[in-house]
Amino acid sequence: MGLELSEEAQKILDKKIDTLDKEYKKGNYAPKTVPRKLPTSDVLWHFHPIGFLEQLERMMKKWHDPVDNPQITIFTKSGRNDPHNSAFGGHRGRPHSGLDIFTPYQTQIHACLNGTVVYTGFIKGYGKTLVIQVNKKDLELSRRNYQLKYDKEVLEGDQYSRREERYLLYAHLDSFKVKVRDKVSTGEVVALSGVTGYAEGTFGPHLHFEISSKKLPSKGDGYKYRTNPLNYFKLKDSNIEYQEKYKQKTYSK
Ligand SMILES: [Zn+2]
Repeated sequence: MGLELSEEAQKILDKKIDTLDKEYKKGNYAPKTVPRKLPTSDVLWHFHPIGFLEQLERMMKKWHDPVDNPQITIFTKSGRNDPHNSAFGGHRGRPHSGLDIFTPYQTQIHACLNGTVVYTGFIKGYGKTLVIQVNKKDLELSRRNYQLKYDKEVLEGDQYSRREERYLLYAHLDSFKVKVRDKVSTGEVVALSGVTGYAEGTFGPHLHFEISSKKLPSKGDGYKYRTNPLNYFKLKDSNIEYQEKYKQKTYSK
């Protein structure tokens, strides 16, 4: 979520950036430290235009959460109250390479960024899975300082940042709204959530969401190529009464 620019405004901004970039390279602006926050006045614009635009760009990031009102899944497959089980990391005694976001059956799933659909299909353990390739720079504009919160949660796999490509992976889906090679835009509904990939059903219907530097998961990867999705967006508080309403064993439909 963020400020949406009209096509025309974007063009003007792009042109400004190009001009400023040229001036900057010619050495017409003294390099300064880029400030952390965009000031409410536009003094910075005169003081350091490139820094100003960089901050502006950061504020205009176009991230859309994978589902509206994202909250961590409280109930496990077997019905235990254990939100730590849904976090990215090792609480399960084996790596969990994504974040389990609570989704009642057939919740709308959104593209978080502009990108290209590179995979739709069924993967063992993941069920119906959709993968969108996104631009690394777009993704990094959403990066934030996340403080670990759950038991044995980790920030990132050791191979994630070494690679260039970036992918968003959505699993346990019910149906796809897009197909391979489709271009998708931020916020577009790309799928409906489901409970595919569980042979014995689940008490905690959810979207398994990954941010990865590898297109498809392979056995034994663990979370090596993945990052904690919470490095890029915030969860809302979990509502146990709400999730309890859906706490009945749901099977693949
Ligand atoms: Zn999961």
